[in-house]
Amino acid sequence: MPDESLLVVSAHVGDFVWRAGGAIALYARRGHHVDIVCLAYGERGESARYWRMGMSLEEVKTARRDEAEKAASVLGAEIHFLDANDYPLVETPELLNRVAAIYREIRPTVVLTHTESDPWNKDHEAAHRLALQGRIIAQAPGYAGEGDPLGAPPVFLFEPHQTEYSGFMPDVLLDITEVWDTKLEAMHCMEGQTHLWDYYTDVARRRGVQARRNSGPNLGLATETMGEAYQRVYPQVASELS
Ligand SMILES: [Zn+2]
Repeated sequence: MPDESLLVVSAHVGDFVWRAGGAIALYARRGHHVDIVCLAYGERGESARYWRMGMSLEEVKTARRDEAEKAASVLGAEIHFLDANDYPLVETPELLNRVAAIYREIRPTVVLTHTESDPWNKDHEAAHRLALQGRIIAQAPGYAGEGDPLGAPPVFLFEPHQTEYSGFMPDVLLDITEVWDTKLEAMHCMEGQTHLWDYYTDVARRRGVQARRNSGPNLGLATETMGEAYQRVYPQVASELS
């Protein structure tokens, strides 16, 4: 694999871990640079355990930031916090310009982000729009931001929490078996959301079964394959079909 640069646009600090931790760890292990952008900490909407413990808003944000830094370090990625507030995450022109500037600076070759639809979490939909719109305006030669126009990095949507209700139809199953222990360690950094540890272990196991079923015996995938599912936004450009 030539030198790649993976950009993950995550609404809140937990999202990149549950949904894309395997891809992040795989890319990092292969020597590629991985940048994670957390638009918000998930301080209001995805930190119920800390609120029940009586923490203040600032304490919750600090705790979530610490968790995310630890998880990113375990996965081997660099993490950036935009602290744009959650519930709601508001798509201001300033925030969009910050995302576009990140595209032009990092110049990713692959982008991961949320699905277009998530009826339970409109922040995730906002993150999707910011990730796509930021990429599109960064491509435009007439955009006034710094740096050269961006190319066309493919965008992959990671798995939402309630898959079928969010219109998610995976067309890529990523084998993350070799980095599963790393992803699990990163998940265990997210102490504000301990209820999700088992849930996302089950998701990975289920996607692993599907990866085996679709790979044929010649690939020799292990019995205990673990997987992550992704859906492409744009067509794959290739010179061969297999
Ligand atoms: Zn989230």
